[in-house]
Amino acid sequence: MSEPALYLAFPDGVLHYVCVECDARCCRGHGMGGNMNHELRPLLTKYPALGALALQRRGSLLDLATPAGGCLFLQGDNWCRIEVQQGKAAKPAVCNLFPFNAFTRIGNTMAVAPHFLCPLRVQVPAPPGQVEGSHARVAAAVRSSRLLDEFQLQAGAALEPSEDADSVVARETHFRDLCGAAIGREPFAAAVGRAFVAPARQEQLQRALALLLLAPRESETPDALDAIFFAIAPSLRLKLLHLKSDAILVTLLLAEQSVRRLAELAAAPLVPQAVYHLIDSLLPALRLLALGDEPMGLPQSAVKEASQMGEAPLVFAQFKILRGAEEGRPILLNLEENLHRVPELVDRTALLMEIGRRVDQARMKPGRRRRTAKS
Ligand code: SF4
Repeated sequence: MSEPALYLAFPDGVLHYVCVECDARCCRGHGMGGNMNHELRPLLTKYPALGALALQRRGSLLDLATPAGGCLFLQGDNWCRIEVQQGKAAKPAVCNLFPFNAFTRIGNTMAVAPHFLCPLRVQVPAPPGQVEGSHARVAAAVRSSRLLDEFQLQAGAALEPSEDADSVVARETHFRDLCGAAIGREPFAAAVGRAFVAPARQEQLQRALALLLLAPRESETPDALDAIFFAIAPSLRLKLLHLKSDAILVTLLLAEQSVRRLAELAAAPLVPQAVYHLIDSLLPALRLLALGDEPMGLPQSAVKEASQMGEAPLVFAQFKILRGAEEGRPILLNLEENLHRVPELVDRTALLMEIGRRVDQARMKPGRRRRTAKS
């Protein structure tokens, strides 16, 4: 079987990690795995009991479990016993490749994203070739890992119906390179805002920000958060490929403004993994708002399945929004007509997340997943 093309979903040379600074987070309950025809067979021969940890096999690829407190090979000094005794090359491929082992198949291309369990740093200016997140280094490691053998067994990403895989990869590559060129030079919102195709989307962005009770940040000077957004945005977009191109941009800009509000709460400056996970947790609400004038696409039974949200104004607003969804009302208009009943940020967020999860469920076709353990 031929190898897939690679799309590295992060700008070249902006991400770096140093294992000795970490407490082996990747070795604590997130699994491991590799290729039975490569490094796993000798390990299973040397440690036959390892086979009892098998979770899933697809072709030559095997996922194995690790206990939450620490992999059975993890020593008290946070070194891997396999590496200590047999060298790094003997370790399971998923471990050797970490954190660059979050795979998403887009047609015949494999997108490779970093795993934000790792305390990655952002390097500005980027020194490609000198840091772990250098494209040439990651591409070589992915190829030699043999984790892409039989890549066609992996379910493909759910794409927006009017897009084909090749044009999506070309678009994502262009966006990633835009991030690489702009990092450290301009604010994220300015660079991403320029990428809009339809001016009407700018207006929808302002309406969505108002629904989130957010005022857009106006700044011409990039800061540390801008650098983080540029570094992680190409990876985040892999969770948004079922949306239209402009809706992906709106989601990112809403995410940026939402994180900036949360950063005011933070006792210390936000780091990339905090930003990534905050955005990831907010995605149902952000994706919902980014759909703009589309209908929600919920089934006719939506109102009957309304959840118990507590106080009467909240329950009533949910009922009216779901009723509007059943009638096919445009999303932003439907929300604008009903969210005035829910003035508090906490209630709005809970309601938007609830409805966003339902809309995600209805719109995202099954089949998209990231392979490998540690994900
Ligand atoms: S095999 Fe080694 S590197 Fe992999 S999870 Fe276990 S301790 Fe960590």
